[in-house]
Amino acid sequence: MQAENNMHISFPSYSVNESFARVVVGAFAAQLNPTLEELADIKTAVSEAVTNAIIHAYEGTVGTVEISAALIGRTLKVEIRDRGKGIEDVEQARQPFYTSSPGTDRSGMGFTVMETFMDSLEVESALDRGTTVRMEKHIGADQNGSGEE
Ligand code: ATP
Ligand code: MG
Repeated sequence: MQAENNMHISFPSYSVNESFARVVVGAFAAQLNPTLEELADIKTAVSEAVTNAIIHAYEGTVGTVEISAALIGRTLKVEIRDRGKGIEDVEQARQPFYTSSPGTDRSGMGFTVMETFMDSLEVESALDRGTTVRMEKHIGADQNGSGEE
């Protein structure tokens, strides 16, 4: 994978860092002049993945969340990784409305949101080893180089 530009951050799984993470990835992606909608999609997807790491992967404990992102041409690639409890059945976890915490604030739509707002979503997970979420989005609105119409 040849990256034209890339970045890496890691931070403890405090819930305050969810907004930090979405802003950082949004700022990184901003160099491709995304539309406001594309930027909002990216931030929302990152937010869902980071929230999952904070809430599910590390549950009541604190662990490290890592984010790597790369810009390859006009494509943003972003990877969110935790070393938490892992997902037993990834296919089931990705189903709309599936949540392991029914009866709480969780609606089971996190993965569905990531899939909808990004062009691709890949989830790799191993029990007690952790989870890596990889997403890609092509930023296409700035083909003429001018950004807004
Ligand atoms: P919502 O995102 O709508 O608040 P949710 O987090 O339960 O609800 P998803 O984000 O779609 O829904 O995740 C589905 C399920 O996958 C979770 O309930 C959880 O069991 C599991 N899961 C997701 N991410 C992780 C992770 N990083 N580590 C461990 N389990 C995870
Ligand atoms: Mg979620």
